[in-house]
Amino acid sequence: MIVVRELNKSYATRDGKVSALQDINLSIKKGEIFGIIGASGAGKSTLIRCLNRLEQPDSGSVEVAGTNITELKGKELRLARRRIGMIFQQFNLLEAKTVYGNVAFPLRVAGFSKQETRERVHDILELVGLSDKLNVYPSQLSGGQKQRVGIARALAVEPDVLLSDEATSALDPQTTYSILELLQDINRKLNLTIVLITHEMDVLRHICVNAAVIEGGRIVENGPVEQLFYRP
Ligand code: ADP
Ligand code: ADP
Repeated sequence: MIVVRELNKSYATRDGKVSALQDINLSIKKGEIFGIIGASGAGKSTLIRCLNRLEQPDSGSVEVAGTNITELKGKELRLARRRIGMIFQQFNLLEAKTVYGNVAFPLRVAGFSKQETRERVHDILELVGLSDKLNVYPSQLSGGQKQRVGIARALAVEPDVLLSDEATSALDPQTTYSILELLQDINRKLNLTIVLITHEMDVLRHICVNAAVIEGGRIVENGPVEQLFYRP
């Protein structure tokens, strides 16, 4: 589903170039929950920003669902990016819109009719267990509920992939657990490919089958979670 080949990315700074990613190779299968773990500054955000083309890599390629997204521009890029859902640590909800409005927004932008938008919003809010919060504003929700809205919004347009960028880092352990269970449930029901970026080993161990460890902009380990982290 996702194939990353020889990806390199550096940032220009006043002191010259800072390399953020070096020779990254990754292969993520359709329907799997793949973990990427690393300490602060390891390059996780840069990698995720290359995976959804918020960032243009210096070299290498990122293929998502058979499309090389590194070279796309304009309308093609917008359409490809719609195939990639994102959830965030700080939820990034629109505070002035209701739960309904937040989830409807990407559908309206994508050109869905009001009727179809309404049906999809209802279906997806049922999936995340928030059917009773349709007309509530984000400020009236708990952290866990906010992230459920974030997940619903990301899934509304039925993406091929869900990228989770530290999506449970702002939540307490019990809420973290319930969000991870929800992601696992969605993964099974929709056969959705999920890439989960985290700095927390417990999160990764809880739901990922395969994972990569990133350190100093390089992948230093890559394989089944039980082999990577359960060695004696
Ligand atoms: P992580 O998400 O794992 O904390 P990042 O991808 O944010 O790591 O950062 C990787 C490296 O790239 C770090 O050394 C960081 O300082 C550097 N970096 C990230 N973004 C920028 C930027 N916009 N300009 C310059 N350097 C950056
Ligand atoms: P548009 O986005 O073009 O204004 P929508 O039908 O998507 O039209 O939404 C219009 C407004 O009505 C939005 O603020 C939305 O939050 C609200 N709304 C529409 N349908 C529902 C619904 N079934 N339940 C709750 N609020 C709704």
